[in-house]
Amino acid sequence: MLPEVQNLVELQQADREILRLKEEIAALPKRVTAIEQKLAGTKAGLEAAKAAIKTDEAARRKYETAIQDLQGKISKYRDQSLEVKTNEQYKALLHEIQFAERDIRANEDKILELMVNAEAREKDVKAAELELKEEAAEIEKEKADARERTAEDEKQLSEWDARREKARAGVSPDLLQHYDRVTKYRGSGIAEARDQKCMGCQVMLRPQTFNEVRTGEIVKCDSCQRILYYDPANEKPAAAPVSTPRRHRARPKFDATKAWYYRAEYEDNGEVFLNFINADGNSTRRIYDAHTGRKLGVTLMREGEYRLGFPEDLPGTIRLNGSWSEDQLEEWGDELPTVVLEALRRDLDLARAEAASKQHRGSEESVASEHSAAS
Ligand SMILES: [Zn+2]
Repeated sequence: MLPEVQNLVELQQADREILRLKEEIAALPKRVTAIEQKLAGTKAGLEAAKAAIKTDEAARRKYETAIQDLQGKISKYRDQSLEVKTNEQYKALLHEIQFAERDIRANEDKILELMVNAEAREKDVKAAELELKEEAAEIEKEKADARERTAEDEKQLSEWDARREKARAGVSPDLLQHYDRVTKYRGSGIAEARDQKCMGCQVMLRPQTFNEVRTGEIVKCDSCQRILYYDPANEKPAAAPVSTPRRHRARPKFDATKAWYYRAEYEDNGEVFLNFINADGNSTRRIYDAHTGRKLGVTLMREGEYRLGFPEDLPGTIRLNGSWSEDQLEEWGDELPTVVLEALRRDLDLARAEAASKQHRGSEESVASEHSAAS
């Protein structure tokens, strides 16, 4: 990885950590505030319960006073009844006394009711007092925790800030500007290219783009504009339809109807992979750039199997494994999928290693001369 890209990866990590820490630092007082609000609610509840007791006590005093007044009236009526002259007057006074006695009972009932209520109110007050005590202890603990956490976060924040500045200093202003701009809109400015995909937007990369990232060029994702980087540690082993690395490489069959070859030089194109397919007495040839996987020229068809149809292509080639169907080749169009390109390259490496070890043992046979020896 280029140091500049490495710095961007570190910058992104720092940016994320800084954001997380700032959010956490901002959230802590909010949590304390929420507990404080709850505490205030409990306090208000306690005050209300205490106020209700006072109101009840006042009401009780009012009823007691009313009873005293009524008792006074009754004793006055009784005194008057001793002096009345007529039976009617006497009956009227008796009636008044009965009214007053009924009012006394009503007041007494109300007092009784308040006394029953008072027990419940006392319980409310005690519960609220207990709750308040617990919440007060909790909030003190929360506040202490928040202070501690904030201090720790702030320490980490200053460390990350320093790392961020260091990372930024190691990136060119243009690239940094691009990173900042993409980060502003997408939340991140650099993404890993893995399994041929941009991990930022999950869109497949063109094989050439992916290869450029892998070879360490600074490349941006076409669809999300994030700068791409490649981490070989995360690349899963490509599904290898040809040959998984093993001790002995599979030998390509001489008479196979589908054949792949490598040539170090093909006209002006440098290294290429050649593909031949025999079908119905004819043969087709496709040529691909060995680095980018891009198809060179058009598919050519000639009469006869490929060894007869394209004899000029074969000298100096290395025969490779590969048995993808013509339909697959058609599907791939103008570019080989990365897995295929990699499978061919890996087989080429194995073929070369094999040839080298044979030469080392003094064998005359070499993979490079396989074709001429076989034909
Ligand atoms: Zn992308």
